[in-house]
Amino acid sequence: MTHPVKIYITTSVICFLVLALVQFILVYNTYDLLNRRFYYEKKGIIYDSYTRAIINDHLFPGGKKIIDGYLKPRFKELEQLHNTDTAAFNKQSQLLINEIFRTLIREQKADSLLRDIKEKHNITDSLRYLLTVHRIELMFGDGIKYVNIYDGRKRYPLIDSSIQQRNGLHIFGDLTNPDEQSQVIGLNVSDPVPYTYAINFTLYADPSNRRQMVFRQMRLMLTMSLLSMLAIITLFIITLRNWIKQKHLSDVKTDFINNITHEFHTPLSAIMVANKNIQNEKILDNKTALRSLSEIIERQSQRLKLLIGQVLDIAAIDKLSVRKEPQDLNLLVKDILTDFSIKFSEANLHLTYEEYPEDVIVHTDSFHFATLLLNILDNAVKYNLQPVKHIGVAITPDKEGIQITVTDNGIGMTKETTKYIFDKFYRHQKDLTHYSKGLGLGLHYVKQCIDAHQWKLKVESEAGKGSTFVIIIPE
Ligand code: ADP
Repeated sequence: MTHPVKIYITTSVICFLVLALVQFILVYNTYDLLNRRFYYEKKGIIYDSYTRAIINDHLFPGGKKIIDGYLKPRFKELEQLHNTDTAAFNKQSQLLINEIFRTLIREQKADSLLRDIKEKHNITDSLRYLLTVHRIELMFGDGIKYVNIYDGRKRYPLIDSSIQQRNGLHIFGDLTNPDEQSQVIGLNVSDPVPYTYAINFTLYADPSNRRQMVFRQMRLMLTMSLLSMLAIITLFIITLRNWIKQKHLSDVKTDFINNITHEFHTPLSAIMVANKNIQNEKILDNKTALRSLSEIIERQSQRLKLLIGQVLDIAAIDKLSVRKEPQDLNLLVKDILTDFSIKFSEANLHLTYEEYPEDVIVHTDSFHFATLLLNILDNAVKYNLQPVKHIGVAITPDKEGIQITVTDNGIGMTKETTKYIFDKFYRHQKDLTHYSKGLGLGLHYVKQCIDAHQWKLKVESEAGKGSTFVIIIPE
């Protein structure tokens, strides 16, 4: 990936993450707000009715009577212990609390009261409750100072551990995680006169599926924010892909323009070499050589002419149309090889040609056939680092018809590479400077030609050993 693409992607990803974070904060704040306001009205109803029911009472109707019944007769004894023996006072007060709370739990009327409130006010949600005491303090004869005998933040060894919970003594209910939002009542009842007590308790109530209910309220917002995120991601991917495609196409175009010269150069150099030979005195007297050179010039000029016509839309080849005519295959291939080999000296190209054992006529478009074979031959030389490049061309019978085999001793390819070589613009040797430039179109064109002829093409190759391209012409 190129540098600007990386910058573009990084910037976009950072922007997207910031946007996602802002969205998340917004959604979270909405959730928090809804969560706080959730059940606000119904909690108010419960608060009003419950506090009215216990206006002169503690915890629940009848709670005060139970506590008074235990505490009042023992105030004096506890006062004396408090003044004389702190350890005994602590022990006695804990035992007393244990006793009081066992009775409170046994005789609590909070659940029936809450049931009545729900019924009366038509509250149908299934609610979970918690009634818990956080602090108890005693006021002795001085009428000034309270003495703490229970503090919900501490653990007391002589109080039954099953009623001592994280945030106080549990009297009634099964709400497991009470919080600020679920608190309905928080009361501190005291009467600062001698031999009284102060008690601090809280009632919590919460719908059993509070989270789901809040999320349900946020449904529309969540869906919209999710959809907008998805839309941004999709648009980003589409834009990026188009951008990369455009970039690739423009790179290829530049490459194509730079290299198209090479395409023209092949027939042109053949014409120039042939022409140079004609100017040679010895050849001028040799009519046969002259004719053969003039034929080369004619064929190559023809090819050049056709190339000019083709070159403008070569990059856009998707479906090739061919004009098939009967051709002598042996001769056709021979001419192509002659024109091809003229470019190389015998010292670095060893070209062998094995003709079909008998005369064979195939229906083909000779121009496209020549381009096809030349592309394979060019690659056999191009992707070959041997000092002497061996290329073997053979036309042999095949069980399906006739096969033309082009074998080279070049660099070969891995199985993975052979999967892609016919793709438009695919170049495996992009980064290597050993090999001459290319457009990644040669074999794509070959495949188009083969398909247009309804022939078959096979590649066998091994990295480091060489490649064999097999064209199968069915009967
Ligand atoms: P180009 O030659 O312009 O890169 P081609 O379509 O002709 O495009 O070839 C595609 C790729 O196939 C090449 O980049 C090369 O990696 C691989 N290839 C083609 N022919 C051969 C060969 N005879 N030996 C090794 N690799 C080859």
